Amino acid sequence: MESTSEREAAPGTSQPSTPAVLRRQDTRLDSYVDRYAARTHGMTASAIRALFAVANRPEVVSLAGGMPNIADLPLDVVGSSLQQLVLGRGLQAMQYGSGQGEPEIREAICEVMRLEGISAHPDDVTVTVGSQQALDLVSRIFCDPGDVVLCEAPSYVGALGVFRSYQCEVAHVAMDSEGLVPEALREAVLALRAAGRKVKFVYTIPSFHNPAGVTQSLERREAILAVAEETDLLVIEDNPYGLLGFDAEPIPAIRSLSDDRVVYLGTFSKTFAPGFRIGWVLAPHAVREKLVLAQESATLCPPTFSQFAITAYLAQHDWQGQIKVFAEMYRERRDAMLTGLRNDMPEGVTWTVPAGGFYVWLTLPPGLDSQAMLPRAVTARVAYVPGTAFYADGFGSRHLRLSYCFPTPARILEGTRRLGDVLAHETEL
Ligand code: PMP
Repeated sequence: MESTSEREAAPGTSQPSTPAVLRRQDTRLDSYVDRYAARTHGMTASAIRALFAVANRPEVVSLAGGMPNIADLPLDVVGSSLQQLVLGRGLQAMQYGSGQGEPEIREAICEVMRLEGISAHPDDVTVTVGSQQALDLVSRIFCDPGDVVLCEAPSYVGALGVFRSYQCEVAHVAMDSEGLVPEALREAVLALRAAGRKVKFVYTIPSFHNPAGVTQSLERREAILAVAEETDLLVIEDNPYGLLGFDAEPIPAIRSLSDDRVVYLGTFSKTFAPGFRIGWVLAPHAVREKLVLAQESATLCPPTFSQFAITAYLAQHDWQGQIKVFAEMYRERRDAMLTGLRNDMPEGVTWTVPAGGFYVWLTLPPGLDSQAMLPRAVTARVAYVPGTAFYADGFGSRHLRLSYCFPTPARILEGTRRLGDVLAHETEL
């Protein structure tokens, strides 16, 4: 690190005669530090990724990661459709393709979205490298440094990272057991605008929220949209989990209620497999062109092979039946986690009850700090993600996210037992 005396040394003082620029380089731990663009300052390692190494040790029950559990995929069916693809249309599938994405998959995506009440034209769909890249492209076309993006409190850690990398300020908006609170959204927009800030959009995850586990009712979606109309706000609707509900038919997407105020993000990562890295944006027609230009500058085109592979899978396999198989498996794990929490959590701990998706959000009694507690939990061989990871402003230390998607029900029960022991000890301290 640079010392004060070196920085302030004037020519002719008792400093050695090495040129200043070399001295500076020699003493820096990261000699590239002055070269990075300002937008990199907001790029920090994800708390979840940092946890992976520890959480993946076999003796640790990891309730931390949000990896979909794809063990039930029919690999024989996927394998034979890939073989047919390579032998039948391999050269086309391995060639560059359209920047917007291949027409066949865009049509199939419209069929998928129909399940959540969305009626869309394939022309308005842009294929992306997972919905993570969709978040990046949306930010790229809408966000200037200093703009404000409204996010739920808490929000998806990967979205917060993207917004930060575009030098946006994230302002969190309150949630309750039905998700984003419309009145809080209205207040936030009005207060920020009154303070001269440019609010670019609200980013929301309406179904089976990551990390909060809650879902917006249809009435709540309508109320949020009404506030967006009233305040002329764009809504970014991120919906990776919507088809993974346990009980009822999916609730219509916010996008099904409005064609021109909502930019909708979808993905095959949770309903099929994340390794193909295929997601999409359904944008108002006027926005589509900018998105495609952004996609072309980012990738030339999204991966053609993956798009063909997914199109073949959707055409040849009972993909809706497969989603039900996944949902049933996740429901069993959700039930195990809720049983474990009821049995093992000490007085004062509360949690959300997800009706789908992967996550439960825990609130600890006042005075406990999930971040400070994590090393002790890992020593007790259980891992979770501290709530602070899901806030841009350091809030969240009384919360933590538990995922039930990956471990078996028996491991989940063991995990909540270990977490209960840790918490019982903490509350005694
Ligand atoms: N949005 C949310 C809310 C997510 O939970 C995830 C994945 N964990 C993503 C977007 C990104 O998913 P992918 O890029 O695999 O589509």
